[in-house]
Amino acid sequence: KLDFHPAGRHFLNIPGPSPVPDRLLRAMSYPTIDHRGPEFGAMGLKILSGIQKIFKTTQPVVIYPASGTGAWEAALANTLSPGDHVLMFETGHFATLWKKMAESLGIKPEFIGLPGYEGWRNGVRADMIEARLRADTKHDIKAVCVVHNETSTGVTSNIAAVRKAINAAAHPALLLVDTISGLASADYRHDEWGVDVTVSGSQKGLMLPPGISFNAVSKKALEASKTAKLPRAFWGWNEIIEMNKTGYWPYTPNTNLLYALHEALDMILSEGLDNVFERHQRLGAACRTAVQAWGLEIQCADPEVYSPVLTGVVMPDGVDADVVRRLIYERFNMSLGAGLGKAKGKMFRIGHLGETSDLSLMASLAGAEMGLKLAGVKLAGSGVVAAMEYLESHAVPALKIP
Ligand code: PLP
Repeated sequence: KLDFHPAGRHFLNIPGPSPVPDRLLRAMSYPTIDHRGPEFGAMGLKILSGIQKIFKTTQPVVIYPASGTGAWEAALANTLSPGDHVLMFETGHFATLWKKMAESLGIKPEFIGLPGYEGWRNGVRADMIEARLRADTKHDIKAVCVVHNETSTGVTSNIAAVRKAINAAAHPALLLVDTISGLASADYRHDEWGVDVTVSGSQKGLMLPPGISFNAVSKKALEASKTAKLPRAFWGWNEIIEMNKTGYWPYTPNTNLLYALHEALDMILSEGLDNVFERHQRLGAACRTAVQAWGLEIQCADPEVYSPVLTGVVMPDGVDADVVRRLIYERFNMSLGAGLGKAKGKMFRIGHLGETSDLSLMASLAGAEMGLKLAGVKLAGSGVVAAMEYLESHAVPALKIP
């Protein structure tokens, strides 16, 4: 028997899946059509060109009916061979999981990073990547793999700096980037930053449910795929890219999630990508203002790389973040992100991505503040009031009713 009867909508304030807008939910409820029929092909072509704008690329974007983990595997399997040496940078839980995947696939990842827990509070250090690549005079390293927005910590690394480091070392390694939680929330430029494979997912900035994921692919990555020897069948790019030319896929695609993607592209491109990024920056700043007013620490220790997608809130010594989260869930019907891996129990994560607005952010901060107080955490002041003041003093143009 369920003895928990929450009133109203659940507040899904984890950093993905993000809340799915009603407009997308309605689009998903359209009848599933023939994925070989003319209507589908027309939609396929529209989606494939729309998604290129989001990645800021003119090159192919492969869409898989899989979670982000599948697209991680696709990026590695299409470009590398068994035993290949790759350089990965420890920024948190997701960087660690990608490294473990590389090991399972028979690749040899070298995991570099800042010592101890520091890596989990800072971004990718391009200077360390450059130094390592300069030392690799034989060019054994075939790829550099980094996470753009580390969802476990709330850190958005500087990918342009990583590209500059690879160029400065005159190293031929491919650049593979995970922006599963960054895309369509934080500025991202596949072509301009010279990224070879960008990996992303549906359930974060794109506001879809989980279930589709992406590889944006450069010419150099396509070339590498011709000689890469890791086994691949389902993940193989070539056949998909070929069939995508007419708007179709070689297998049965996830039609109803593609309806939602079609709708999401319209929402995001009508708002304008720059406006979307600015909205996320502003809400992220308001959230951090609240955390600072509470007198609590932000997980990201470097203001240069604060994430516009989520904020990690560090608990004072002796407070278990999972106990606070559970209390908030039970009392206020709100989910906050758990601390993952090395951060388990030490912090929780507030997601402010996708459809988040001033008022939805204020609701989540109110829930967090009430929960922290109920859990006995001593707060220096009201984060809710501080965030409201921030939003008031950083106003956006008001909606004009004719
Ligand atoms: N990489 C990052 C940065 C993520 O945030 C996630 C999921 O949250 C993943 C990879 C794994 O993606 P998925 O859970 O969709 O397989």
